[in-house]
Amino acid sequence: MANEDSKPVIFCDFDGTITEIDVTDQLLSLLAHPSWREVEQEWMRGTIGSRECLERQMALVEATEEEFNALVDTIRVDPAFVPFHEYFRRRRIPIFILSDGFDSVIRRVLRRAGLGGRLAFRGRVFASALKWKHGRLKTRFPHASAGCRHGCATCKVAVMKKLGRSGFKILIGDGLSDRFAAEAADLVYAKGQLLAYSRDRGLKVRAFETFADVQADLEARLAVRRAHRKLAGRVLVTS
Ligand SMILES: [Mg+2]
Ligand SMILES: [Zn+2]
Repeated sequence: MANEDSKPVIFCDFDGTITEIDVTDQLLSLLAHPSWREVEQEWMRGTIGSRECLERQMALVEATEEEFNALVDTIRVDPAFVPFHEYFRRRRIPIFILSDGFDSVIRRVLRRAGLGGRLAFRGRVFASALKWKHGRLKTRFPHASAGCRHGCATCKVAVMKKLGRSGFKILIGDGLSDRFAAEAADLVYAKGQLLAYSRDRGLKVRAFETFADVQADLEARLAVRRAHRKLAGRVLVTS
């Protein structure tokens, strides 16, 4: 665990965190055979990991690519995420998106929100992959980890360990797919099921509703960090 003086690295869930609703749930609710819910139950009970869950669920989608994209285009992001992203980009504090959801869907949603420009998230989205093949959806999981015990579609813990290194790891999330990542973070911003989970587990967690809340809290923390460093510098000089 890093302390607050280490450089912050922000890891952010996508579905239900950056977006107002869970994109994958929405796609499945409207476009998949209803048996997707039985698969979801197996995942909730912990019988299967999210990788197997998504693989089986996406195979149940009965739609054309046009219908699928039209639905993706109705998904809105938290309006406060745009200034949040800009604020940390200017301060060179990296934001990585970690998601069990799908890379192409995430990029399409971010582009519509005006976040696709300036190659904003190149190399910073860690998610599952989706491809149309003979009118059916095929999944691929380039960020599943061989060492992962949970069967994660995207092993958020593995990515955080690799990219967070000695940094102060901040996780922003909302759901059960973030629970293992929350345990690996130095500080968690949570809403929804993740908030209850993090509190139950005694993790260092703060509640949020929009990215404006997270930004305000982080700004205050960063100001304290700067003051500490200044003070430490002065002590060094005078001693
Ligand atoms: Mg989520
Ligand atoms: Zn994992």
